[in-house]
Amino acid sequence: MNIVKTGTDILNAIKIGEDYLKNKGIQGPHLESEVLLSYILKKERIELYMEKDIMLSDEEINAFEEMLLKRGEGVPTSYLTGSREFLSMDFIIAPGVLIPRAETELLVEEVISLLQGCGESFKEHINIIDLGTGSGIIAVSIARLFPTCRVYAVDISKKALEIASLNAVRFNVEDKITFIEGDFLSCIQSCGLEGKTHVIVSNPPYIPTDQIETLQKEIKDYEPITALDGGRDGLDCYREIIPSAANCLIKGGILALEVGYNQAQAVKILIEETKSFKSITIKKDYAGYERIVMAIRK
Ligand code: GLN
Repeated sequence: MNIVKTGTDILNAIKIGEDYLKNKGIQGPHLESEVLLSYILKKERIELYMEKDIMLSDEEINAFEEMLLKRGEGVPTSYLTGSREFLSMDFIIAPGVLIPRAETELLVEEVISLLQGCGESFKEHINIIDLGTGSGIIAVSIARLFPTCRVYAVDISKKALEIASLNAVRFNVEDKITFIEGDFLSCIQSCGLEGKTHVIVSNPPYIPTDQIETLQKEIKDYEPITALDGGRDGLDCYREIIPSAANCLIKGGILALEVGYNQAQAVKILIEETKSFKSITIKKDYAGYERIVMAIRK
């Protein structure tokens, strides 16, 4: 391939990778080059600079070039390295699951702070449902913090549940999570959760169908469409989740949803229409978009 010549040291390899990716139109090429190289060399990014004069072996050069080539074609970095950091935890990621986004950290943090603010009795045996668990980031990060909770992690995708179970094992919470293959809330009846659930949290697919084509190539060509496509106006899942959540949650139970950048008000109306919730709150993400909608079951 000859992108990186024999005898190249780490510092130069980063620069060569950066230039290559920049040429291919990849965003943040410097960081991406560092991430790929640190994956190949099994080093932290900071170590690359501590060992910047070390030369790459031919084997390492080949592996790095292969990664650059794939990344240049648009394959997302997380699918190449098999991982992604979420709330400072390194999650296993593979094609077939949505790559965790920073906004979702906010969703989890909000749920955690609401739960921490609840009385001790509420915390004793909490049942939590994570709808559309994907890689399991939400289920796992909540399960880790609440020793007495039971999380029901639901997804229609077998592949997603496989990855989510691996993450549960990685973070030692496999005995606290029940994985359920099915559509939204199909688990409620089978698991006897009607009126017994304390939290329903979800980052469902919310992109309107006709906007999928307009997404960046690396999203639309590589990430699972079922994790993205929210139907004609992007709100299909909310229409399904919200009325069922009203049946499922206990009094005082929490509904917490991530929404598309312009969907919060529409989702708020869907929640109001059930007449079953109070204290509907909307939180903005770091970019200033209304991103999280939460409500408490009356
Ligand atoms: N819950 C997972 C996440 O937030 C997957 C979401 C999805 O597939 N839409 O990343």
